[in-house]
Amino acid sequence: APGALLAVYLFNLSVVFAMFSYLSFFYLTMVTTANRKLRRMATTDSLTGLFNRRHMTYLAEKELARFRRTGRPVAFLVLDIDHFKAINDRHGHEIGDRVLIEVANIIEAQLRIQDLISRWGGEEFLAVLPDTDLNSAQASAERVRKALLAHDWLATTDEPIDLSISAGVSEFRRGDNLNSAISRADRALYRSKEGGRNRVELEAG
Ligand code: GH3
Ligand code: MG
Ligand code: MG
Repeated sequence: APGALLAVYLFNLSVVFAMFSYLSFFYLTMVTTANRKLRRMATTDSLTGLFNRRHMTYLAEKELARFRRTGRPVAFLVLDIDHFKAINDRHGHEIGDRVLIEVANIIEAQLRIQDLISRWGGEEFLAVLPDTDLNSAQASAERVRKALLAHDWLATTDEPIDLSISAGVSEFRRGDNLNSAISRADRALYRSKEGGRNRVELEAG
């Protein structure tokens, strides 16, 4: 009968429709997840999960643009682990890696949620602190330095290690570009190292 045929036809149509909906949904979810994963891989450092240097440069340029527009202070911390080569040499690269991850966690825990934190080089970190002047940034760097000194490493390394960090602090100035601001923090870091390490120095002048 034509009625029965129509019913079968409609049934087939619904089944095909349901299958396509399910497939489209499945593919959409897959592509979205893959995209998210790709973006994370492109913007973060795989060891520590912090921003990588390239993404940090992009974010810091945005902060610089905001500083130029609003004049609100933006500070920089360059943090470098002291004698990290000796930790690798004495305890091995694997322990070295674990220490890097833990240092990254400690820096994150001591700074604010809105601060941008990156792995800038091997055992060097750059943090950009929005709405923060030089003195508050110095206090933040001191907080990180002290937290690292007080940290109990036995849980991560199974062996006692001696670890400290040196830091240089700067803030954006009128006429700055990213390089000039970071260079001042770098020079301050250099003075921390020269001065005996395990200390925080501010940009000069
Ligand atoms: P300073 O106090 O002057 O900063 O001395 P340092 O030994 O920390 O500095 P140096 O630049 O001489 O050595 C940095 C070391 O960091 C050497 C390198 O093997 C190590 N390093 C860099 N990246 C990694 C990493 O991903 N994992 C491990 N385990 N070590 C790393
Ligand atoms: Mg170092
Ligand atoms: Mg270094």
